Amino acid sequence: MQASFEQTSWFPIMLHLEGARVLVAGGGNVAANKVQLLVPTGARVEILSPTLCPELERLVADGKAEVTRQDATVESLTARLPGCRMVYLATSNRALNAELSALCQSMNIPVCAVDAPEVSSFITPAMTTRGAVQIAVSTGGAAPVLARRLRAKIEEIMPAGLHRLAAFMQQSRLALRTRVPDSAIRRRVWEDFLDGTGGALAMAGNTQAARKELDRILDQDHARTGEVWLVGAGPGNPDLLTLAALRLMQDADSVLYDNLVGPDILNYVRRDAERVFVGKQTNNHTLPQDGINAELIRRAKAGERVLRLKGGDPFIFGRGGEEIEALMAAGVPFRIIPGISAANGCAAYAGIPLTHRDCAQACLFITGHARADGTLNLAWETIALRSQTIVIYMGLTLVAQLCARLVEHGLPADWPAAIVEGGTLPHQRVLSGTLSTLPQQVADNHITSPALIIVGQVVQHRVVSSAPA
Ligand code: SAH
Repeated sequence: MQASFEQTSWFPIMLHLEGARVLVAGGGNVAANKVQLLVPTGARVEILSPTLCPELERLVADGKAEVTRQDATVESLTARLPGCRMVYLATSNRALNAELSALCQSMNIPVCAVDAPEVSSFITPAMTTRGAVQIAVSTGGAAPVLARRLRAKIEEIMPAGLHRLAAFMQQSRLALRTRVPDSAIRRRVWEDFLDGTGGALAMAGNTQAARKELDRILDQDHARTGEVWLVGAGPGNPDLLTLAALRLMQDADSVLYDNLVGPDILNYVRRDAERVFVGKQTNNHTLPQDGINAELIRRAKAGERVLRLKGGDPFIFGRGGEEIEALMAAGVPFRIIPGISAANGCAAYAGIPLTHRDCAQACLFITGHARADGTLNLAWETIALRSQTIVIYMGLTLVAQLCARLVEHGLPADWPAAIVEGGTLPHQRVLSGTLSTLPQQVADNHITSPALIIVGQVVQHRVVSSAPA
């Protein structure tokens, strides 16, 4: 059933059930639960069971459901299946439920045998409903308790007046469609409405004021003015995204991202946003920097809100400065959102402090990326100091050269050094040693990019937390 633990074969949809015949086999509490979920949809619920629990008796007496007081069997069910939209099997006999489910499936009628996803063609998610707004949580039948926990969390964050907001937006939809034919602009109008006071007014039931607010937004000039948002995505773990990054990721029309931005992060970008990979790897420039600048400008001028998503912080070895200069020269409006840089993320997740009162009064971020001629042209005399921590970005390829230079310029060969591979990610590895051992450790352990080198006595102050990250 389950293709793998990272995929699911269940596909969520919302069924329109008003007036549709839905059959429920069984008359106990389990059946009553399902009938209660069905009643508000306006479905015609038909129960097949010789006896009914008090709750079902009440629903039948109130005219919310009909009953045929018969055992659920292949024959009695077969007689009722034609014209049925869907079926719930909730008898206490699991073998019977499975048999009846096969029957329904042979007639292509969606069927759910309660608590038996393996013989069902649909399952019932845990639901949160606020009028027309519904959130359904499914674990594909794997962990119903987990689904209910998640639902409880969602219940907490779904404001009670949400149904009024949805109703307001629905009522205004047709008029808005005529007034603003461009769907992208309409989306912006709604975003402005929700980001401003409109959402709260509609939720509070103050329809008149909400309508006024919508009119006010509509009167503004919504000619498409594009923008570029230069956003730091952090070192890779989505937990380390900022709230500002998350919001812009949800609002963007398109996203240009680097190879340091993994699928876990991209998952948080608005589904409909166009994704453009412009990743840079040494010797494998998918799009050269000039090309990236030109693409940002072209898209913004066409009215797009372009998310330029970068690993870590855009202003730390991220060439963010160059991109902003190009945008300014072209007169394109922009915003900059900082991110957690690899140094901060790796240090915290590896348990290595970057400064220390006793041994590291300063911390230096340097690049270990060679120039075109293969040399490392750095001010070694200001770098190879014992009183500071040295954090080396892009240093993996030249790790041996970097360590050798630091020793040549005065650091002891047994000076502490560490490398963090895939920092903050589930597969993070940390190796610690000294300037003389690190290059061999890197080779022996096949350390791959991205990796960050930390040199200094702080490495000896490494703490390993007992709590899960
Ligand atoms: N702007 C980024 C740095 C880009 S340079 C930032 O602020 O973090 C790319 C280098 O960053 C990589 O070569 C590596 O040295 C480091 N890096 C980025 N993410 C990393 C990670 N998750 N783990 C280890 N190093 C990382």
